[in-house]
Amino acid sequence: MMSDWNQMWRRATVLSNREFARGSRWITLRSEDEHPIPYEPGNVLSLRIGEGGERMKHAYTVTWADAAARTFSIIYRVIPTGQMTPRLAALGPDAPVEFSGVHHNPIRHEVNPGAAQVVGLATGTGVGPLYGYFRYVLENGTEKRPSSLFVGFREELDIGPREELDALAARYANFRWTPTLSQPDASWKGLRGRITESVPGLIDRPRETHFHLVGNGAMLVEMEAALDRVGVPEAFVSDETYFNWEAEASDDVADRIAARFRLQ
Ligand SMILES: Cc1cc2nc3c(=O)[nH]c(=O)nc-3n(C[C@H](O)[C@H](O)[C@H](O)COP(=O)(O)OP(=O)(O)OC[C@H]3O[C@@H](n4cnc5c(N)ncnc54)[C@H](O)[C@@H]3O)c2cc1C
Repeated sequence: MMSDWNQMWRRATVLSNREFARGSRWITLRSEDEHPIPYEPGNVLSLRIGEGGERMKHAYTVTWADAAARTFSIIYRVIPTGQMTPRLAALGPDAPVEFSGVHHNPIRHEVNPGAAQVVGLATGTGVGPLYGYFRYVLENGTEKRPSSLFVGFREELDIGPREELDALAARYANFRWTPTLSQPDASWKGLRGRITESVPGLIDRPRETHFHLVGNGAMLVEMEAALDRVGVPEAFVSDETYFNWEAEASDDVADRIAARFRLQ
């Protein structure tokens, strides 16, 4: 029964757990039981590591899954002072991990088919499920609209997963991705500033665009308040907050971001 395996802690082992950018890791797990691997990019699950009183768990968002191979991947940030992620980062091949649940819709179900184009906006490791979403719909041939992904990082060393995103952009003419750096050094030739500063002016026809936002709650509330002011329909906005739940957008900040959009 669906509800049985969906609620229990299930066993998995680590296949790989690699750092792809400074402080950001890509972990791939293989389920060790016979129950379904029902994940798609954007589904959320709980991961649990440790034993007895040392156990800890958190929510993570699926970047990619392969039901036939019984594997799934997550992109996560190692918080140096964090409880769980330094321990997660230390797990090598074959280490045991437990997982549970299928939460949240896959991003594919959230993106409105009535929009003329799709824009993903992520901070840091929020890039994971958006990379997975674009890869999924592009490889399956179900997304022909112009599709763009903008990801905010602090410095160039933080950017990733570069290889995978560059390969996707090289293969599909309707997909492009662009990092924007809040603290670039002088040699950086790409976008500068936070997403809320550098991206709005680059988006044509925002009112006909579906926006999916993932990551830091501060970026999400500020950008969503601006999208509302610009007149983007509510049905064209979806999101996933990783942290910073208490963040609020002041009127001033929302007005300033809204003013950066070019309205035709
Ligand atoms: C629905 C949901 C989905 C999530 N999916 C992901 C995911 O796919 N990948 C991921 O890395 N995290 C994700 N998170 C965050 C994750 O659950 C943990 O909070 C995070 O891994 C920190 O764990 P920790 O025990 O090491 O840090 P803690 O000791 O719990 O410290 C938490 C602090 O770390 C900071 N923090 C938490 N997450 C991040 C982050 N991603 N980037 C930068 N700073 C952060 C915040 O300031 C937070 O207050 C998700 C959270 C939710 C609620």
